[in-house]
Amino acid sequence: MSATKKNTLKLKFDSSRNLAPAPESKSVAKIADRYDLFINGKFEKPSSKKYFDTINPATEEKLSVVAEANAADVNNAVAAARTAYEKQWKKTAPKERAKYIYRIARLIQEHARELAVIETLDGGKPIRESRDFDVPTAANHFFYYAGWADKLDYAFPNRNPQPLGVAGQIIPWNFPLLMAAWKIAPALATGNTVVLKPAETTSLTALKLAEIIQEADLPPGVVNIITGAGTTGAALVNHPDINKIAFTGSTEVGKMIQKAIAGTNKKATLELGGKAANIIFEDAPLDQAVEGIINGIFFNQGHVCCAGSRLLVQESVYKIVLQKLKDRMETLIVGDPMDKNTDIGAINSKQQLDVINKYLKIGQQEGAEMFQINCNIPKKGFFCRPTIFTNVAQSNRIAQEEIFGPVLAIQTFRTEDEAIEKANNTPFGLSAGVWTNKGSKMFNMTSKLKAGVIWANTYNKFDPVSPFGGYKESGFGREGGLHGLGAYLKV
Ligand code: NAP
Ligand code: MG
Repeated sequence: MSATKKNTLKLKFDSSRNLAPAPESKSVAKIADRYDLFINGKFEKPSSKKYFDTINPATEEKLSVVAEANAADVNNAVAAARTAYEKQWKKTAPKERAKYIYRIARLIQEHARELAVIETLDGGKPIRESRDFDVPTAANHFFYYAGWADKLDYAFPNRNPQPLGVAGQIIPWNFPLLMAAWKIAPALATGNTVVLKPAETTSLTALKLAEIIQEADLPPGVVNIITGAGTTGAALVNHPDINKIAFTGSTEVGKMIQKAIAGTNKKATLELGGKAANIIFEDAPLDQAVEGIINGIFFNQGHVCCAGSRLLVQESVYKIVLQKLKDRMETLIVGDPMDKNTDIGAINSKQQLDVINKYLKIGQQEGAEMFQINCNIPKKGFFCRPTIFTNVAQSNRIAQEEIFGPVLAIQTFRTEDEAIEKANNTPFGLSAGVWTNKGSKMFNMTSKLKAGVIWANTYNKFDPVSPFGGYKESGFGREGGLHGLGAYLKV
């Protein structure tokens, strides 16, 4: 059968929605009634005396209460990190530092099942993802950076690499444990100490990591984990004794941070938003590409900064790709994140669901055509059906602005140049995907696309070894790999 003929076949998937439930057990997860601040190796009550609820977004049930750190608590945490840095950590032999980091990595593996369950309960992502992606990748980051700790002189030859001091780290809610690992592992390997603030809606796995850090006997104060909302984050950014800010989150808050630290000696890496294009050429393996599109935008409910939230399809294969995409979407299972069959779990918060719903309205008002899959969604909790928009204009807000949900904007193109122009035409530049069977086309595209990460015939693949970061309003600095070490060193 010729390739074109094969591509015109209409491919219908069997609906897999009749599967019997396969819920993961909650019994492995030990969630305390209350969580305090992890400062100087101990859990301390907040001086604010305030706690806030953390809920399960799939059921709206309260899981626990978490301490809210105020400026005095931030000050205590930074002081603990400073003392630990001056008195101990910067003098600790690199190979000793490595031992602690390896220990944390192994303990994450030992606690993997519990961490995965808590990540899913607190954040709403499918248990399959927490179990198979978030937790193992977090452990891998610690293993990877542990290996570098005593090899910094080889990584930066003749440049006498030295730690910066105390790092203030602020992370979002989409990969709570993994983002904590991305931030903490390279900082420790390079001899810095840390004050980390997780996102308000997803503090629990970072606090479990604090327990693991205690269990690993890391010297007190080397890692401090303080919970709270944006004001806690701002107090950390503005603290005078911080040497570096590592932030992952929205472009809006990233810009505020950049203003706040202008004129200080604080170093910064900012990992911000994205509006990535997945680009399918007519010569691409179309079924694989459709799987890549599905993974690119529906993985983790589209709560992914590098999500393939735009699809650019070459006009000659537009109809077949659209049909294959809709057919495949109809097989996706939306619902209980604790069920091992679930593909798409809960939206992280009511607030984020409101943002997504606002964009669904905007898209329709702009004249785009909306398609949602025909499935039931739970009555309680925050859920959104996988959605695609066709008939999208380049200037439409759904093609320009980050939605951070399971919503795909589809456009077509005729030539390589047109694909490049459209892909680059947003304020962001974090990632992109190219699907073609021609190596030369791949190289042409990757050299002209303005994006920090470009995947070829795949999407959303991560490895601690490869650097990650953006251009333009997607931020600056790189995390991961050798580049991720440089961001925590004076060289
Ligand atoms: P966000 O509102 O910017 O929040 C990120 C973190 O900053 C949270 O811990 C937040 O605390 C804290 N924060 C809020 N206001 C602050 C302030 N004025 N000063 C200091 N810290 C402050 O982002 P989000 O909505 O949680 O996360 C989604 C965004 O993150 C998306 O735009 C996404 O693209 C981006 N993201 C980027 C990457 C990347 O690597 N480039 C990776 C993941 C996510 P609270 O949550 O407690 O308010
Ligand atoms: Mg929660």
